[in-house]
Amino acid sequence: MITCMKRSIAKLIRPRLGKAVTGISVFLLALPACAQQFVPQLLPQPMKIEMKKGEYLRLRHPLDSTLATDLRSSLDPSLPQEGYVIDVTAGGISVRSHDASGLRHARTTLCQLAAGGRLPLCHIEDAPRYAWRGCMIDVSRHFFPVSFLKKQVDILSRYKINILQLHLTDAGGWRIQIRRYPELTRKAAWRTESDWGRWWDSGKDRQYMSEGAPGAYGGYYTQAELRELVAYAAGKGITVVPEIEMPGHSNEVTAACPGLKCEGNQGAQGDVCPSNEETYRFYCDVLREVMDIFPSHYIHIGGDEAGKEAWRKCPRCIHLAGQLRLASTDDLQGFLIQRMAAFLKLFGREAIGWDEVLTDKLVRSEPSLGTNMNVMVWRDGKAAREAMLRGHNVILTPGEYYLDRYQDDPRFVPKAFGGYLSLEGLWKYAPGKLALPDSLQSGQTGHILGVQGNLWTEQITTPDYAEYMLYPRELAIAERGWSGDRLTYPQLKASILAQAGWMKANHVNAFDLKSARGDRKETLGPVTHLARQARVTYNSRYADKYAAGGDGSLTDGILGGWSNNDGRWQGFMQRGDRKKQPLDIVVDLGKVTPLHSITMEMMQFDSPWIFFPNTFRISLSDDGAAWREVYRKEQPREHLEKVSVRPWQWKGKDRGRYIHIEAGCDNPGEWIFTDEIIVK
Ligand SMILES: [Zn+2]
Repeated sequence: MITCMKRSIAKLIRPRLGKAVTGISVFLLALPACAQQFVPQLLPQPMKIEMKKGEYLRLRHPLDSTLATDLRSSLDPSLPQEGYVIDVTAGGISVRSHDASGLRHARTTLCQLAAGGRLPLCHIEDAPRYAWRGCMIDVSRHFFPVSFLKKQVDILSRYKINILQLHLTDAGGWRIQIRRYPELTRKAAWRTESDWGRWWDSGKDRQYMSEGAPGAYGGYYTQAELRELVAYAAGKGITVVPEIEMPGHSNEVTAACPGLKCEGNQGAQGDVCPSNEETYRFYCDVLREVMDIFPSHYIHIGGDEAGKEAWRKCPRCIHLAGQLRLASTDDLQGFLIQRMAAFLKLFGREAIGWDEVLTDKLVRSEPSLGTNMNVMVWRDGKAAREAMLRGHNVILTPGEYYLDRYQDDPRFVPKAFGGYLSLEGLWKYAPGKLALPDSLQSGQTGHILGVQGNLWTEQITTPDYAEYMLYPRELAIAERGWSGDRLTYPQLKASILAQAGWMKANHVNAFDLKSARGDRKETLGPVTHLARQARVTYNSRYADKYAAGGDGSLTDGILGGWSNNDGRWQGFMQRGDRKKQPLDIVVDLGKVTPLHSITMEMMQFDSPWIFFPNTFRISLSDDGAAWREVYRKEQPREHLEKVSVRPWQWKGKDRGRYIHIEAGCDNPGEWIFTDEIIVK
């Protein structure tokens, strides 16, 4: 579970912009002053729209995003990239656009605007904020058919998303036919269990299966299917960006091609050996075929979460690290990523890597090679700023905003992988407000290429469920990517609700935003109780990354929500010494006080190892010296499918000034999360 846990813990703790922006500002200056209207049926919202109330153009033919019916179009290179201007008058529709994409966007806007065979008379001027407006689907953890991907292209293109990234390779299964290495799909595109979680948790018994074996779960895309998908998406204005993960998350690669493992390693290995020339031959061959299928300028080469353990014992890795004068074998990742990025550059392509590529010392010391590395930022804003300072372009896909999180009260929706991310929570992510280093603002170094919604599919077993998680949240990404920070949340919600009819008519299994229950209602207002503002002494500290409000957090009256990293839950980790309780605190009420109940809410969330305590104890004291235990609860570990919050509570009649609370877990590395000590 190490890999997944790391991903979740880390996360849970997890346009050529220069040009486009310049274009937009020039464009804005050229506009006559006119009132900006908000039109809910348009998503994303155009930059400028003026509608003539009550006046319509009756359409002779139904509008279609590809037909030029009723439409006069011309190219206008003075407009920004992808930009367009629409005039709907009594005499017809005219569109000026910078390029073919602009014309396509104009048609999409008109389709959204048309109702009952007519169009309101209007003038629209529009261009995107970011050149990269993406959606990533992980097709490795669970496999989704091409028909599903084409349907997503149809949906995404309606909202001016222009990138579909496919996470094609990972431990869950290799999903792309490679002619040079047929064993990849023959041996590692199939596995014994359809449910990724059950399969992954089976540890040493985890097995891949051969293609065609009875009961095998999995699949892969043939090159012909992928070419067809690429062409289909291109017709709808979407570039398919392939991701071939390396050197980590590669259990399936080393299972199919054991020669790529470290020297002397007989067991399973999640990372390929970065010190073997065969590894480089392999990836160059694979990438040649990948580039042949995908015309995308950008090729994603992963680079995240390599465990690097086998490298430390591999004589070949130790030797190469010494030769390269690296501080440790861990730094060989930089060597591999550099070589692969340089290889792609030979073909005029550019590499994208997850932001761990920034830790590579070689990338750090060789900016000339490093500059064609684009960084997909998933950890935090700090990584984004660091990447840009070093001259890399970034695509923002922060882990906190991954679409595999619960979008509503976990008790009422299917099991998800991550914490809680409502549409409103997602809308809080405003890349335009990312604090940039001063040197960046002068435009010297890297750029924000754009934003992307990532759908990891550990828990997402079916196409229907994938759509349920994608929509409507991906529409918020589309809005951010296109219009930037222009809309308020109520406006966004209104325009998303206005899409529900289209979604339903087109059989999209979107989450019903109208029915959303939202975050825990307990979190809406502060709780009043006797220990509010009381001083808390920590005999063992909370973890810095889960500090919530710091030392006053457990008596501030503020309760946590469905997400363990919403800044309201305080986290305590069980260390190796089991006698030392990870949660060990004393609350001072200031004076001896009559007591009727003491309650602590606890969270359990199995995937990042957050558990209800196995032992829990409350003691009282009048003077802080003589203690008497009033409550003790021992509880064996219970496996829970979903995020759960439950109270640990003493009720009775007693008195005291000091309250001592201890809670512990059975195993090192496990976490206890609590939000408040409620004393009544
Ligand atoms: Zn090695």
